[in-house]
Amino acid sequence: MKRNREEIGRMRRAGRVVAEMHERTRQAARPGATTADLDRVAREVLERRNARSNFLNYHGFPAVICTSPNDMIVHGIPGSYVLKEGDIISIDCGAIIEGYHADAAFTMPIGDVGPEALKLIATTEASLRAGIATMVDGNRLSDIGHAVQTVAEAGGYSVVREYVGHAIGTAMHEEPQVPNYGPPGKGPKLRVGMVFAVEPMVNMGAPDTRVLDDNWSVVTADGSLSAHAEHTIAILDDGPEVLTVLD
Ligand code: MG
Ligand code: MG
Repeated sequence: MKRNREEIGRMRRAGRVVAEMHERTRQAARPGATTADLDRVAREVLERRNARSNFLNYHGFPAVICTSPNDMIVHGIPGSYVLKEGDIISIDCGAIIEGYHADAAFTMPIGDVGPEALKLIATTEASLRAGIATMVDGNRLSDIGHAVQTVAEAGGYSVVREYVGHAIGTAMHEEPQVPNYGPPGKGPKLRVGMVFAVEPMVNMGAPDTRVLDDNWSVVTADGSLSAHAEHTIAILDDGPEVLTVLD
């Protein structure tokens, strides 16, 4: 669906709130902090900015962010987990302003982590940038995922298949889905006014996933590390604009 200038303006404001949630949770994510502490910090940002949460109560989800350490890929529930030196953690945040949604995630090291984990995070971010670069009027939807997959696999990693990006607007998850893999040149044409959340999930080992007994937390089936990076991006006349950034 195409969004007009006013709609994209609201999503830009929601994106600024999400970027502030990123900034605050990144500062709070230190050895000794719990993932519940990060959720608390994110709630404060939503309250201060008069934004609503699109994560809280989503199919019963009990928090405003997802926190997914180490081999957890996505959808981790904030709680009693204590961050420790050497962990990596993915933090996924969302916000609603005047009915319009934004959604973005990042992965960060806690203290000193090994070079392999840092390379995984950097490659995941690079794969997202490569996907964003294809978001130009006239390209095809599958060009995004092809670019993501090419960069991730060139780094020696695999991309998750079971969870994908999505269009976003008056709901967090709208059609069409945006896979992080596949051939280029397929699917609908990208048009000015379309807005997507692109979100590579990149595993150090195999792409296979498993859901834990809490029915939310998705982990790598082989226990390998996983990283997640996501932005909400609008396609404009002069190319892609990442909405989930600070001014
Ligand atoms: Mg997200
Ligand atoms: Mg998303």
